[in-house]
Amino acid sequence: MADDLTMPALEVLKCRACGHYIGTEIYVERAIRLHLSSGVDAYALHGECAGCGAQVHWDAPSVTFRRLMYHWRKRPAGAEI
Ligand SMILES: [Zn+2]
Repeated sequence: MADDLTMPALEVLKCRACGHYIGTEIYVERAIRLHLSSGVDAYALHGECAGCGAQVHWDAPSVTFRRLMYHWRKRPAGAEI
């Protein structure tokens, strides 16, 4: 299991409209990139879903921001901010 403190979980990107697989987030030297089936590791992706034509947008998230969001979601209910 990944170390949650340093390497937050990665996500699989799918079309929000039809669920068509777009790519998988990976770590490249501690930065998050979107690995595409073509072999490209993208830092941004803006286009249209091959399945339904819906717009797809993805920008490389900050690892620090992901880490903060992870801990935000895990905080106990009613915890002080
Ligand atoms: Zn789609």
